[in-house]
Amino acid sequence: MVANVTLPSDDSLETINTVLAERQKFLGFYRSITNDLRDQVESYIEHNGDPTLVQPLNLRNYTDTDVIAAKRKKTLINLYSPKPTKIPFLILEKMRNEHGLLFCPSCGEDGAPGTLDHYLPKTEFPELSVCLVNLTPMCSKCQGKKSDDYLTVDNEKAFLHPYYDQIDDCLFHINIRPPFNNPSCFSIELKDSVTGDFRGLVESHIEGIDFINRIEGYCESKHLHLLKLMAEEREDEEPLSAEQLIRRYLRQEKKKALNAWGAIYYQSVLDSPDLLVHLNDGQLPEYL
Ligand SMILES: [Zn+2]
Repeated sequence: MVANVTLPSDDSLETINTVLAERQKFLGFYRSITNDLRDQVESYIEHNGDPTLVQPLNLRNYTDTDVIAAKRKKTLINLYSPKPTKIPFLILEKMRNEHGLLFCPSCGEDGAPGTLDHYLPKTEFPELSVCLVNLTPMCSKCQGKKSDDYLTVDNEKAFLHPYYDQIDDCLFHINIRPPFNNPSCFSIELKDSVTGDFRGLVESHIEGIDFINRIEGYCESKHLHLLKLMAEEREDEEPLSAEQLIRRYLRQEKKKALNAWGAIYYQSVLDSPDLLVHLNDGQLPEYL
């Protein structure tokens, strides 16, 4: 990642209050946990969802046995799968489908993300299963890769938070090694300008979603596509230079996000003088 996205338009605490008011079963449990659950949501907002500052509620404090605590954990998790007639259903649908994003804010890959991720996993924080600021748009590939390990082995925050972590720059550079018609290697690296604790957080985040392997695969097809575009451009009566052409594509990609995969790729090409020389004057493959 990647990209900061705007907070949900619906209020998290108000939504929790409405969800709690809808409950018809396990009223004793909900009565006993309501205040702490509201406090938990407020604490989450105050601490920007930082898991080093927000601890899961212990459901044994609101139940008589371990067995009942396990059952109420499922009850809380099930709040995330409401019937269409219940209040959070439409809110969750809106958050999944009306975010207006053209890329996944977790990884930067193209495409409108169709799922919501529990930033702090609902298996560990079942009380936050319908806390809206804990639900962030995510692509299904990230969703499949992201584990429930919300802390690193050093007990640091493991993932960037799309609502709260500011990303103001492109974080990555791709080294594209010759031969340029069939590059031997695309290696993705974090820029030197990414430093300190933030660098550790980004490293942990991208490892958790298998970012490197995924973007390398993308680079291969993107690169072949660029060679093809360059070959076509040379046929034009007034061909643009590689720099002109790529700046134009880069501008489009950056409109999505600074760390959209296309933006990372095209910026990296512009930062590779030898590759630009090849694109302008080198022999392009004939199979294009
Ligand atoms: Zn993703």
